[in-house]
Amino acid sequence: MAKKSFGQHFLLDLNITRKIARLAQVGEGDMVIEVGPGPGGLTRALLETGAQVVAIEKDSRFEPLLEELAAASAGALTVRVEDALTADEAAIAGGRPAHIVSNLPYNVGTPLLIKWLTGAFRPASMTLMFQKEVAERVTAQAGAAAYGRLAVIAQATADARLVMDAPARAFTPPPKVDSAVVRLVPRSDRPEPARLQALQAVTAAAFGQRRKMLRSSLKALGGEVLCEAAGVAPEARAETVPLSGFLALADAWRAREGRL
Ligand code: SAM
Repeated sequence: MAKKSFGQHFLLDLNITRKIARLAQVGEGDMVIEVGPGPGGLTRALLETGAQVVAIEKDSRFEPLLEELAAASAGALTVRVEDALTADEAAIAGGRPAHIVSNLPYNVGTPLLIKWLTGAFRPASMTLMFQKEVAERVTAQAGAAAYGRLAVIAQATADARLVMDAPARAFTPPPKVDSAVVRLVPRSDRPEPARLQALQAVTAAAFGQRRKMLRSSLKALGGEVLCEAAGVAPEARAETVPLSGFLALADAWRAREGRL
């Protein structure tokens, strides 16, 4: 029944689904976009909060079951059979603030997160189940082994916290690895698109060669001169540079390129 290619690992334990709904801090009248409802375990817990839920599921085999749930929801649940990667969340939300809650399909978890962090649609909050290793890469601080591009982009655009661990045995069928829930709230000072693009360029170069000193990994972007303009030590390695350092490098690079 569960399709591996669709990352299908279901949460059927009401204690866990209710806990995720609580962690999402959604309630009466809030709009929630749930990605990948599958058989609807988490969907039920979200509906219990009184939220308005739009569920986006790619696997049409779940449609009859979800439509049954929708029919019993007195208008609180809408089901859309489509790919979340190409879904237009702004149109779906119709201009209202919307929270995203999902036990994410692991194969598309990171691209979906990047879409919600950097795209035109800005969710009110995101409460997302990832593989534990990805959750750690989103929330890691400078100096930690999991710190890299994903942490910098996620933390430049959102306040990101790991809020719950979920062992593999909580899922049916159990995946090979443990999972964790991350809650992200977009920052009001999220960098504007050009600054974000520069941050992506700088982090791609720096973490592309994470063991090298910045003067060498950032050579093509200005190397030592760039680091000095940004006030970041040229002999530092990417994994030790905090978010503020990467923002300074991105700004210095834009200034050099005449992109201000
Ligand atoms: N929410 C359910 C639960 O917690 O039991 C299912 C979670 S399961 C990890 C991921 C779900 O996402 C599956 O139902 C899968 O079919 C769906 N899915 C996979 N890729 C998708 C995509 N690109 N767009 C929308 N749904 C997708």
